[in-house]
Amino acid sequence: MSDLRSIIYDAGVPVEGHFIFADGDHALIKLEMDTLWHHPKELGIVLDALAVAERLPQPDVILGVPTGGQKLADELVKSGRLSIPIAYLERVPGGTKQDFRFVSKQDEELASAATHIRIYEDVVTTLSSIAGVVKLLNPEQQEIHSLAIWRRGVVKEVYRVGVQDHYLVEEVMPSFAPGICPYPGCKKR
Ligand SMILES: [Zn+2]
Repeated sequence: MSDLRSIIYDAGVPVEGHFIFADGDHALIKLEMDTLWHHPKELGIVLDALAVAERLPQPDVILGVPTGGQKLADELVKSGRLSIPIAYLERVPGGTKQDFRFVSKQDEELASAATHIRIYEDVVTTLSSIAGVVKLLNPEQQEIHSLAIWRRGVVKEVYRVGVQDHYLVEEVMPSFAPGICPYPGCKKR
C-alpha cells in the first residue's frame, strides 16, 4: 500500500507548519485530508481502496466518524462503490470531540440491528474518535471494524476495546506535549 502513501502525498495532504491538536499536543505536520477532495483522481484511488477494504468482513451497516469519516462513507455510497446503508452520526453539541450520537432513531435502529459494522475515518492518532463511536454500539454482540486512510499516531490500547482497527497507510508523524514542542516560534514552551 506504499503507493497509496505517495498518492496522498502527491495530492498535497501533508502540510508543514505549527499545529495544535484538540488533545493539546503540538505537531509540525498536519494531514489535511480535506485537500483530497480537490484532487478527484487521487480521491478516487483512495475511495476504491476504502471500498475494497482488504481483510475486512462485509458489513451490514457502515458508519463514519463526523465529519471527515462520515463524508468518506457518504461518498462511497453516493459514488456506487458500496451499497450498504449508513447509520448517520453527529457531534453532541457542547460535548467533547469524542461525543457522538445518532442523527435519528432510524439510524440508531439500523446500527443496533447489525451484526457486522464498519466505521470509516480519515486520520487516526490515538483511536479516541473511533472509541467514541464504538460507545454507541454493542461490541459484545457485534463485530466492529474500523478503517481509516492514515494512522499517524500510536493507538492507545484503552481505545481499542471492542473494535479491530485497520488502515490504508500507517506512518507515524511525531506530535509533542506543549512543553517539548520543537517549533521555533512555539509560545507554549
Ligand atoms: Zn508548539
